[in-house]
Order: sequence, then structure tokens, then C-alpha cells
Amino acid sequence: MITIALSKGRIFEETLPLLAAAGIVPLENPEDSRKLIIGTSRPDVRVVIVRASDVPTYVQYGAADLGIAGKDVLIEHGGTGLYQPLDLKIAKCRMCVATPAGFDYAAAVRRGARLRVATKYINTAREHFAAKGVHVDLIKLYGSMELAPLAGLADAIVDLVSSGGTLRANNLVEVEDIMPISSRLIVNQASLKMKRSTLQPVIDAIETAIQ
Ligand code: ATP
Ligand code: MG
Repeated sequence: MITIALSKGRIFEETLPLLAAAGIVPLENPEDSRKLIIGTSRPDVRVVIVRASDVPTYVQYGAADLGIAGKDVLIEHGGTGLYQPLDLKIAKCRMCVATPAGFDYAAAVRRGARLRVATKYINTAREHFAAKGVHVDLIKLYGSMELAPLAGLADAIVDLVSSGGTLRANNLVEVEDIMPISSRLIVNQASLKMKRSTLQPVIDAIETAIQ
């Protein structure tokens, strides 16, 4: 049996064509179903539906053989025990620093001010500001980062942006691009050795299907 860990929403939607290329079609839509384990058109393949940030953990411990996770999530997880053979080029966005429109970020950085930064992505933010030599107090949030500067919790946020619509709606501006983000196929290292004859054709079919 091969188990694939997926999260609901955009990753599930954008993964469907890639799995179909490997002959794998989930038998239910997780948006409509409350089932957390979903069978597929292949009796030897099942999908488990987990929180986006839990996908690497399921694959790391071998509870899933394969998974699909954003680079943002993989950086925070650390990647221990995972092969990351493919950039699937789906769920594309970018990691950036944003501040309220009136905040002079460049001047604050020049002055050597200590910035308060709210984010879900503590590791990414720590590395980014350390590399720039900017002193920050990082405040961990689990959602709606955009609210933090508006409510006076932080000077800046580190968050994912695609269209920029949410930032604009909250009078925030992107002041620094940190890195482009897309989703990766991740594979449990032990599974790849023990189940290579089944896993490798799936990986190859997905690779061929990537645009
Ligand atoms: P949860 O909703 O469980 O708290 P989440 O918000 O990280 O987790 P999603 O919003 O489904 O879950 O995002 C899943 C992945 O999709 C992210 O890890 C990221 O890689 C990517 N992603 C997030 N936001 C965007 C976006 N605006 N555009 C494109 N891809 C995105
Ligand atoms: Mg979300």
C-alpha cells in the first residue's frame, strides 16, 4: 500500500492532474467528504488528508510514503528524513516582508532599529533578518498575519503573497521579497528504498506531467 499525504484546498486541487498522470484518482473530494482517508482508483494507493503544515511530519515518520508540501512549510519543518525530488511548480506564491503603507522600513533598518515582526514562518524570518543583520523580535502567529501591524502587535509581517490583494485591502505594502514559493513532492527515505518498484513509476509520471 502507498499512502500519499495531501492538504485540502489549493494543493489538493492543483495536485489532481499530476496524480491523474500517474493513474491515481481520489474516489472522494475532501471538500465534501469528512473522511480523512480516501481511496483512489488504484487499490494499492490511498490519500490521507492532513493540515498543510503536518504533511512533512506524516512523511518523515513513514505514516505516509509521499506527500506534497509548500516550500514555506518544508523550511519550517526542516526536512529531516525527507527526499524532495520534484518541484511541482504548483501553489506558487512568494514569501515577503510587508509593513503598513506609512511605515518607513528602509529608514528603520538603516537606523538599526529593533523591529517587531509577526509571522507564522519563524525560521524563514529569523534567517532572512539575520542575513541582513537586522535585529528583530519575532512574534509567532498561526493566521491572519495582516492584522498584526494594524492592531499594533508588530511593525512588519513575514507572509505569503500571490496577487497582493489581501495586503492592499489592509493598507499594507510589500517592502522586501524573501523567496519564491511552490510545492514540492516529498518522499520518505526508507519508503523509497523498500517500495522503490512502486514509488519510482509514480514519481516519474508526476515529473513528466509537471508543466
Ligand atoms: P491552514 O489553512 O491549515 O492553516 P495554510 O493556510 O498554510 O494552512 P493553505 O492556505 O491551503 O494552507 O496553503 C497551503 C500551501 O499553499 C502553503 O503552504 C503555500 O505553500 C501555498 N500557498 C499559500 N498561500 C498561497 C497563495 N496565496 N497563493 C498560492 N499558494 C499559496
Ligand atoms: Mg490558509
